[in-house]
Amino acid sequence: MAYQHRIDAERCKGCGLCVAVCPKKVLEISTTVNTRGYFPAYQARPEDCVFCAICATMCPDVAITITEVEETPAAG
Ligand code: SF4
Ligand code: SF4
Repeated sequence: MAYQHRIDAERCKGCGLCVAVCPKKVLEISTTVNTRGYFPAYQARPEDCVFCAICATMCPDVAITITEVEETPAAG
């Protein structure tokens, strides 16, 4: 089973907690504001994510979700 890591940029207030706790240094704070005027976290290195969910557990605004997704069969 594969996993998908998603940050809801509109819920995020850019506190940086997730950036600090990620053991793989996947996350960074964006330089672009969201509609609430915050600089949200984003996955700068998504290929390094191990889906440990520490970031999702730490986020005070429940902006990060990790969900199981069906593996996409190879085309053809
Ligand atoms: S799930 Fe783990 S490895 Fe992936 S971004 Fe969150 S803290 Fe980092
Ligand atoms: S912990 Fe949550 S609110 Fe804080 S920067 Fe990360 S995603 Fe945004």
